[in-house]
Amino acid sequence: MSAPSPGAKPLTSLDWRGSSLPGAGNLAICGARVLDPRSGIDGERDIVIRDGSIESIGEAGSLPADLDGDIEVIEAGGLTAFPGFFDPHVHLRTPGQEYKEDIETGTRAAAAGGYVGLVAMANTAPPVDEPSTISALRKRAAAEASVPTGFTATVTRAMKGEELTEMAALRDAGAVAFSDDGVPIRSANVFRRALQYQHLVGGTILLHQEDPALSGDGVMGEGDVSAALGLAGVPPVSESTMILRDAELCRYEDATAHMQHLSARISVEAVEYAKQKGAPITAELTPHHLVLTDEEVRSLDARFKMNPPLRSEDDRQALIEALKSGVVDCIGTDHAPHATTEKEIPFEEAMMGVIGLETAFPVLYTELVLPGLVDLATIVERMTAGAALFELEVPEIKPGAEANIALVDLEAEWEAGAEGWESRSQNSCFAGRKLTSRPVMTIVAGRVAYRQRAFRLGAVA
Ligand SMILES: [Zn+2]
Ligand SMILES: [Zn+2]
Repeated sequence: MSAPSPGAKPLTSLDWRGSSLPGAGNLAICGARVLDPRSGIDGERDIVIRDGSIESIGEAGSLPADLDGDIEVIEAGGLTAFPGFFDPHVHLRTPGQEYKEDIETGTRAAAAGGYVGLVAMANTAPPVDEPSTISALRKRAAAEASVPTGFTATVTRAMKGEELTEMAALRDAGAVAFSDDGVPIRSANVFRRALQYQHLVGGTILLHQEDPALSGDGVMGEGDVSAALGLAGVPPVSESTMILRDAELCRYEDATAHMQHLSARISVEAVEYAKQKGAPITAELTPHHLVLTDEEVRSLDARFKMNPPLRSEDDRQALIEALKSGVVDCIGTDHAPHATTEKEIPFEEAMMGVIGLETAFPVLYTELVLPGLVDLATIVERMTAGAALFELEVPEIKPGAEANIALVDLEAEWEAGAEGWESRSQNSCFAGRKLTSRPVMTIVAGRVAYRQRAFRLGAVA
């Protein structure tokens, strides 16, 4: 992804309950291995944070014994400090479906996953299509969110794909982007008009790419496994044809859009082609599409039911290549909570979607980094890059930057879900999996947004 624009705002320009979190924004993190592919650091360092910003980064052991002022010292030897992660694709389910998730639980799950910011989708009940709803959500986030949270508004009224929302007024109310995620924008003409407004009012358009006519009644990826199970499949062209159509419209209107959750090799090819032609688009991958295939669906366990669906090993390999090459810009979880009663039922009837905030980094580290498929720096780069989609500063560990940091124990071994979840829902496709690595502390603007219970403090000066 290109460098963040000069006008990028700090993550804390989004809403969160910053000043009510523990700490005063003064911390010293001592002896952690600091790994930040953007600032080019990989080594043991001491980081001093004052008033929410990184004051200095020195060699490990270089801190004066008598650090002055009100500063909490965190002994972090053996841990790794990354720039905090940013998730451009989260379903917080509020307003209207708080039995699945809300701002408080969803952002707590994010903080527990090492995330220092996120953007919530607008396919709530009702959908977020009025400026007053954006204002109300922002107020709630300012009181309840553990990490800075941005809200999208829908592109079309009630997500019906017919009439555009008042995009300028929604931007004025603070919508960070637009999305009808959950469903595609069927009409090319409606999307074209949305792009014309996008060009004027800013805020990228996030696209769930799927041609409903091609997806039909599909409940899983179309292929050998769907044929063997006798289940209706969604063909990969359902996704790629819409990507090509919309990328052409972006190029024609010189307006930006973001292709969410790519699932197939031909979708990657479509994005690559469009970018080569100069279309101002970006694209995203989820941990579940990078790690799992449709073979999981043989279990008929609805924890493996999501949209877009899991696909073949060949598709998965293409996604991994796209992650490495940069054809795909960032990783988003598509964290999609559902109640047990909506998931622990026959596969064909179950809702689509999985939670993902608390497992994203550990899953990618365990399944892609440790086997040598993708290097750690690339994972960190793609897990932070999503902030740039919203003209926000991408988290970086460098002097002067807002102190947004994920402190991770790369050696921790744990079983996903064994201790329960911070999320209100538990529909994880990784539940029960043995994972290596775990975030132990998440710092947003120098404040402790999450601290693992088992992670003991150093001295408090
Ligand atoms: Zn979607
Ligand atoms: Zn989604």
